[in-house]
This record gives sequence, C-alpha cells and structure tokens, in this order.
Amino acid sequence: EAFAKIRERDERVGAYLTLNEEEARAQAARLDDKLVQGDSLGLLFGLPVGIKDNMVTEGLRTTCASQFLSNYNPIYDATVVSKLKLAESVNVGKLNMDEFAMGGSNENSSFHPVRNPWDLSRVPGGSSGGSAAAVAAGEAYFTLGSDTGGSIRQPASYCGVVGLKPTYGLVSRYGLVAFASSLDQIGPITKNVEDAAYALQAIAGYDPKDSTSANVEIPSYVSALTGDVKGLRIAVPKEYLDGIDPQVKAAVLEALRVLESLGAVWEEVSLPHTEYAVAAYYLLASSEASSNLSRFDGVRYGVRVDNGGNLLDLYHQSRSQGFGSEVKRRIMLGTYSLSSGYYDAYYLKAQKVRTLIKQDFDQTFQNYDVIIGPTAPTTAFPLGSQVDDPLTMYLNDILTIPVSLAGVPALSVPCGFAEGLPVGLQIIGKAFDESTVLRVAHAFE
Ligand code: GLN
Repeated sequence: EAFAKIRERDERVGAYLTLNEEEARAQAARLDDKLVQGDSLGLLFGLPVGIKDNMVTEGLRTTCASQFLSNYNPIYDATVVSKLKLAESVNVGKLNMDEFAMGGSNENSSFHPVRNPWDLSRVPGGSSGGSAAAVAAGEAYFTLGSDTGGSIRQPASYCGVVGLKPTYGLVSRYGLVAFASSLDQIGPITKNVEDAAYALQAIAGYDPKDSTSANVEIPSYVSALTGDVKGLRIAVPKEYLDGIDPQVKAAVLEALRVLESLGAVWEEVSLPHTEYAVAAYYLLASSEASSNLSRFDGVRYGVRVDNGGNLLDLYHQSRSQGFGSEVKRRIMLGTYSLSSGYYDAYYLKAQKVRTLIKQDFDQTFQNYDVIIGPTAPTTAFPLGSQVDDPLTMYLNDILTIPVSLAGVPALSVPCGFAEGLPVGLQIIGKAFDESTVLRVAHAFE
C-alpha cells in the first residue's frame, strides 16, 4: 500500500530520495511467514516506515540531500534503524530534507524540493519536510525525523501530522549525521499521538555508542495515554502569542479552551529571554556545524573532485562543489564565530544566553506541568517566497528554538486550520517527561 501511494503521489510531493522496494518486499514476505507460524510479533510489526536521509542505513544510499554524499553507501545502521528492525517495521526508503538538515522549508535539498500535500504550491516545512509530507500523503505509516531547532515539529505543524522531539539524550544519535551535536535529536512523525507513543517506545533508550545518551529508565509511553488532564497546570508564554498570525493564535486559544473543558487550568507566563533565542541558536548551531562538517574533505566520504592539484586543491574543489549555498553560509558563520578574535563576543556569549533560556524553562516548570503555545508563527508558506531571505526564514523558528536550546521534549499536534492549512499546537514538557507531553496531546486530540 505504501509503494502504491508512493507511485501515485510522490512524483508531485517529492518526499523520497531513495526507495528500498526490493529489500522491503523481501522483509515483508519474511514477516508474512512469521505471522503464519504464529510467532510473537515486534512492537511495530509490519509497519512501513520512512527514514530521514541523515540517518545511515547499511547498504542503502544516505545523502543528507547533499551532492557531497550523492554516492555514499554506509556500512552500518544507525542505532534507531537497528531498533526499528528489531521492532519489525519495514524500511520503505530514505526521505528528502534540507541539505544536512539546514533549513526550514525543504527548499535547500540539493535534489528537489518537497511539496506540501495539503497545497502543492506550498512548502512542507523543514528540515524534515520529506518525513512530514510522506506521513501526510500516506506514503509511509510513520517516519523518523531529526530536530535541531524545530525540524520535526515545524514540518509536522505545516503538514497536519504529529511530530515529537524527545528530550536531548533520550534517543541515540549514533549514525545520525551530525549537524549541531549539542542540539540534534531524532524523533517520530506520525498520524496521531498514540502512534507517536509506540514509535518512541521502539527507539528510546540508552546507547553506549552515543556519549550523550542518557542512562534513564524508559517508561511505558502507551500506558501514559489515560485521557485524564484534570488539574493539569499549563503555562502559556505571552512571548509565544505576540506577533503571530491571528488565525494561528485563535486556533491555539481554542485548543486551550478544550483543555480547560477537560479540567486543566492555564495561565499566562513570561519566558523573558525568548527574543534572544534565534540569535543564540544560529551562532551555536553554525559553530558546531562548521566543526562537524570538516570531516567532509573529499577523502573520507562521498564525492571527490580531483583535478590533479595538491591536497589542498582537492579539499577546496570537493567542498566548493559538494556543498550548497546554505551549508556554506553556516560554515562561514560558524568558523567566524569560533575564531580566536571573536570567540568571546559571539560563541561564548551565545552559550551564556543558552543558559538563561534554559533557566526560563526550569523556573516555569517549578509551577507548571507543561508549557503550551503554537509550533510556528504561521502556516505553510508558498514555495519560493522566502528562499532569498535567510533572515526571515531563520525567524520562523522562534517558537521551536528555545525548546531545543533547553533540551526539553516537545510535541506538535494538529489543532485546527487557518485558511484551509493545518495549524500545530506545541506541547512542551520537563526533561524526560515525554509521558506527560503525550498524555496531554492525546487527551486533546
Ligand atoms: N530551521 C532550523 C535551521 O535551519 C532548524 C533546523 C533543524 O532543526 N534541523 O537550522
């Protein structure tokens, strides 16, 4: 069914970069045999999954939507990919994204953009645009995305599906091509909250291969979905409602009324450092990216451009031709802010701002169970409308970035429409309290 939908729709949507059809069909046949024999079944038995193309898959091309890796076939599986195999889901293929996960509209893919299934003239969001569009179009039962500053939640919001960014450290990053290592986190994109709980169950957990993996006990997320939110204390940051699209705001206020009718209480609060989050994020994320991407030198991975010059020429040519313009912009910004003369003024300052932002969250969570607001200030915008204006594009992330800097979990769940386009409600929780986030989202849904 997934492949039938892909054939019917993906020429227009553009969600996939590589299909895994032969292997997927063989695996499905093996699972069929197992079903006949009455063996015990994996948690995600037989479910077709699509994987964002920055998670490595053994023997299956992994490009990060970059020309640099257009011929790269990994020799191992990311931990999340192994875990999905263990849960017996079937990998349908690799999903389109912004190159190296840098972007918010999927227009930075070096192969082709993704289109929003709700309106093909609009972007699906990014950088996990393929992951969100594939679920919205029925081209996979669920998908994995990665979120550094909003890349799971914002495309989920634009495509009318559920997207969960777990607490930093809950899901292993081993085999995720690093963008900004102190922020990157893998999570599921699904049609509903219950599916998100199942998918998270399958991929969460300690992994000694990721030095930032948290050694915490994994609760049963599915049994947290009780439907009960009586007495739940919700904080609504006033900074998250200022200056957003009025129809998005109306949908969020309506969602709060629904939660209130279920017995929750909400109050307006202030997260005073919100306005500095975007600036701090783009310094920190670019700095980390400039360091992480130094491994792409034309020698170790992917494409090599060798015009017979010396080693420096080889690096230069390979990087000049392999990377797209947004990736180059980030590398230049990051290299600049890490350089000795500017380190204190930019990188160090941004780290201090990050601490203040985290403290905003810590203080709020002393009195409230969750923080709720919109996922993004607008709905999906038309393709091409912001590509020449990186600053406007960066500002779209204002509501997702603070959460990433604080490292806490957040989920986007559809909460209505504005002019026919889906609006996402963002539910933010305490560190490692995915259960409460999922419970609130499920009760609301
Ligand atoms: N849009 C943000 C950026 O371009 C977030 C990307 C992400 O979360 N991977 O960096």
